[in-house]
Amino acid sequence: MFNSVFKIVYFVEFLLIAAVRKAHTAQYRTLKTVLDRKTLLDMVLLGLVGIGMLIPLVYIFSSALDFADYSLPNWVGWVGAVLFGLAIWLLWRSHADLGRNWTITLGIRDEHTLVTEGVYKYIRHPMYAAHLLWIIAQVLMLHNWIAGYSFLVVAVPQYLLRVDDEEQMMLEQFGEGYREYMQRTGRIIPHLLKNNSIRR
Ligand code: SAH
Repeated sequence: MFNSVFKIVYFVEFLLIAAVRKAHTAQYRTLKTVLDRKTLLDMVLLGLVGIGMLIPLVYIFSSALDFADYSLPNWVGWVGAVLFGLAIWLLWRSHADLGRNWTITLGIRDEHTLVTEGVYKYIRHPMYAAHLLWIIAQVLMLHNWIAGYSFLVVAVPQYLLRVDDEEQMMLEQFGEGYREYMQRTGRIIPHLLKNNSIRR
């Protein structure tokens, strides 16, 4: 019974996060990219990430994956639901702050600007942090060895492969400005002991 409550809550939150992404990105997909750093590996991983995101829908709407169910206390699922809510908020704020500089694969837009305000004031990769919260939420809400972990197994390697290249690209593009920004921010967890208000 509770398993199906979490399926419903997960599906609603999934629709919300998909709507946030769609609302913010639809208008940017056609913008010009002046530097394209996408690789074949990046494209393959992106496809796998898409599949990892969609497998929960198979679990929610069919019984095909039920053989891999296990059980966890209900409070675990509710913690997941709250984390998913945080992920939705963080993805929404990150898109609002990054604006037209967003690209699905690595690249630099025409008239790209370095964003260091809003949620970017605290961490350099709030969108990836939002995805990480979503990944944890999926594990906590869908108590199934396949549907719970399908996003994690592809998105974590994708993040690890991508984040260094992205920061290298940003350093090449924005030089000292990005280097200083790196010093006062964390990647996905804020530098709590450092002064985030230092600029320049
Ligand atoms: N890693 C960021 C952005 C993901 S979108 C996050 O997790 O929030 C990926 C694109 O964002 C990259 O191709 C890069 O061009 C751009 N980008 C990343 N950090 C940026 C920043 N601080 N300011 C402007 N553009 C940025």
